[in-house]
Amino acid sequence: MATNRTFTMIKPDAFAAGNAGAITKIIEENGFTIKAMKLTKLSAERAGQFYEIHKERPFYNDLVAYMSSGSIIAMILENENAVESFRTLIGATNPAEAAEGTIRKLFATSIEANAIHGSDSDENAQIEGNFFFSDLEKF
Ligand code: ATP
Ligand code: MG
Repeated sequence: MATNRTFTMIKPDAFAAGNAGAITKIIEENGFTIKAMKLTKLSAERAGQFYEIHKERPFYNDLVAYMSSGSIIAMILENENAVESFRTLIGATNPAEAAEGTIRKLFATSIEANAIHGSDSDENAQIEGNFFFSDLEKF
């Protein structure tokens, strides 16, 4: 995957609230091109694998339960400086600290149920894209 790509997930709270369309529109309006997209649901085991880096954190078990509680939409996005510019677009982890106009400010309901994920490095964008899309060479 080139360095102009990032990976995102619309999380279960945002999908269940019917915000997937609005969030996708904001993503596209901000210059991101959707290269791959999948509506799916994570098992607790897969959610635990995805967030394995947080295994020792006190919120890990709740995070796994939340991320496996409903449907999610996984996407690979392309833009200039994709990883950093997407993290700016989604805003701070805690919506109370997220800047005005960011996706988390608009749609997140708590520090846990924060509507959307964004990869934090080019390396993780590639790892996370491969986690959901086994046929990446097509995109
Ligand atoms: P993400 O990796 O989902 O894009 P992030 O990089 O902003 O989010 P991380 O520190 O990687 O934040 O945390 C991963 C996810 O764990 C958060 O998005 C949130 O859903 C949950 N989380 C983080 N901190 C807390 C906390 N203190 N209490 C409850 N849940 C939390
Ligand atoms: Mg993170």
